[in-house]
Parts: sequence; C-alpha cells; structure tokens
Amino acid sequence: MEKVIIIGSGCAGLTAAIYAARADLKPLVLDGFEPGGQLALTTMVENFPGFPDGILGPEFIENARKQAQRFGAEFRSGAVTSADLSNRPFKIVAGKETYEGETLIIASGASARMLGIESEHHLLGHGVSTCATCDGYFFRNRDIIVVGGGDTAMEEATFLTKFAKSVTLLHRRNEFRASKIMLDRARANEKIKFLTPYVIEEVHDMDKKSVERVTIRNTETNEIKVIETEGVFVAIGHDPNTKVFKGQLEMDPAGYILTHHGPQTAIPGVFAAGDVQDHHYRQAITAAGSGCMAAMDAEKFLAKEKL
Ligand code: NAP
Repeated sequence: MEKVIIIGSGCAGLTAAIYAARADLKPLVLDGFEPGGQLALTTMVENFPGFPDGILGPEFIENARKQAQRFGAEFRSGAVTSADLSNRPFKIVAGKETYEGETLIIASGASARMLGIESEHHLLGHGVSTCATCDGYFFRNRDIIVVGGGDTAMEEATFLTKFAKSVTLLHRRNEFRASKIMLDRARANEKIKFLTPYVIEEVHDMDKKSVERVTIRNTETNEIKVIETEGVFVAIGHDPNTKVFKGQLEMDPAGYILTHHGPQTAIPGVFAAGDVQDHHYRQAITAAGSGCMAAMDAEKFLAKEKL
C-alpha cells in the first residue's frame, strides 16, 4: 500500500514527487506512456526561472527525476490502463501490476495533437514545435508556418509575429473553427498570410535535421506544392490524458479534470496537477506549481486522517 501514487513524470508529477518525498511519504511515480512529459520532447527551456542560460528540456526532466529519487521517490515504468477510484485505497493498474494508494495525484498531462507524419516526429525540437510560448524566441526573423484553424492556431500565429519575419497560417479547410475575434485579429495582422485549404504532406529536411521546406496538398484539388519555411508550429489542439478516469471524475467537455481550491478533485484524496487540469496556461512553471500544491494537499489530507 502506497501513501501517495503519482501518475505521470512530467513537470507536475516530478515536482509533486519531490515535495511528497521530502515530506517522507515515499511516493510511487508511474511514468506513463510519455515519460518526462512534453518537456522531454522540447529542446531549450529559457523561461523557467533559475536557468539564466536556459536548460535542455530532457536535462531539466532528468535533473528533477534525480532530485525526487534523492529524497526517496520510487519510479515504475508502464502506462496506466485502468483506475478504480470508487473506494479507498484507490486501485491503479499499469502493465501487469496493480497498485493501491491512500492518495492519488494525477499528473498525466495533455498531449499535443500531431499531424501524424514521420518527418514531423523526426524534426520535433529541430524546427517543428507544438508550443509558441516555449520556442517562438528561436524563430527571430524567420519565415514560419502555423498549422491549424482554431483559437490556438490564431493565438500562436499572432504571438509568433513578435519574432518571425512572416507567419503563414495553413489550415485544411477554408472555414475556421476559431472565434471571430481571434480570427479577425490574426487577419488584421500584416505579418500573417492565410493559406487554405492545405495540409502538410512532408516536412523537409530530415537528413539535415532542420526545417527548410514543406510539401503541401490542396485538400480540394489535390494539387501538390513545395514551399520554403524555416519552422512549423503544429497548433491543432491538445488532448488531456484522462481516458481511464472518465465517469469517475468531473471533467469539462474536452476531458480536462475539473479541480477546485487548487488541485482538489471531487473525490477526497484524489488530486490533479499540471496540464491534465489546465488547458489555459500549460507552462512548465505552472505545472510545477500545481504539482507542489497537490503534494502539500495530499500530505495534509493524510495527516488529518491520523488525528
Ligand atoms: P480546436 O478548436 O479543436 O481546433 C483545432 C484545429 O486544428 C481545427 O481547426 C482543426 O481543423 C485542426 N486540426 C485538427 N486535427 C488536424 C489534423 N490532423 N490536421 C490538420 N488540422 C487539424 O483546438 P484549439 O484551437 O486548441 O482550441 C481548443 C479550445 O481552447 C477551444 O475551445 C478554444 O476556443 C480554446 N482556446 C481559447 C483561446 C482563447 O480564447 N484565448 C486560445 C486557445 C484555445 P478543423 O476545423 O477542420 O476540424
């Protein structure tokens, strides 16, 4: 029986692990199917306070993991396939193992939706990005593409004009899902050019490990074109990793866990931290902050029971 089980080893999960371990709760961290979370997929992190020269995302994650281990956190690999939150102890199945926990911190994050082509995956962190706030700075005076037709795409395209020489907003339909105000703002921006109805078929150049051009296809005529670009921002939404909790925890229509008073869910002893409950800020520092809050609340919850 674990005192605290933490699901996810991204920024929120690892911060929760450090705090819970330092409170002598010997947390068990289940890595999930994307160990390290989204930071493990990025290159330089320049906006986390305390690193004046920036730090590589995977290095940051490795450091946080070691920090948690130093205080006694235990890690197990394996994605969670089912969870039973109906009674305490909570039961979590990952791989062939079933774990039981007095408290549970869900920090399973959200995954950026990807286009699903091999070159995009290969060049992630090398010109392909899923986060304008994180990576926009690296695209100063560059010509870049933002993919998507929702509010995220409009917001990221508008934000990226601060750095980029030009932003081409590429979307698969001529109609946009984005709200009128966000669309109008993007349309009014002289640096943004709209290109529809197109999808990206390939990002080049995998051999050079940098983005130089993309092959695009018109979704109505199937005409193929190659256009030059120095960066591709995929902004087609995120999906929270909450499937195993459906029907057990309150969620918004997009599947994000609803929390109150910081990380608390409607089930006493179950806490949620990081992107799994936040589709607004989605930053390493905010995820770390909510991971800290979840661990402190779990500790308080367990201490109260002992009284
Ligand atoms: P979204 O509204 O689901 O839009 C996703 C966009 O990506 C759609 O235009 C979709 O095209 C396109 N897309 C999806 N899969 C694709 C694929 N495989 N290939 C090419 N294109 C693809 O997601 P979102 O923009 O992230 O917004 C999510 C929610 O957050 C929304 O409720 C939004 O209003 C909100 N949000 C609000 C703000 C704000 O108010 N400041 C900012 C960001 C997000 P189709 O349209 O053809 O399906």
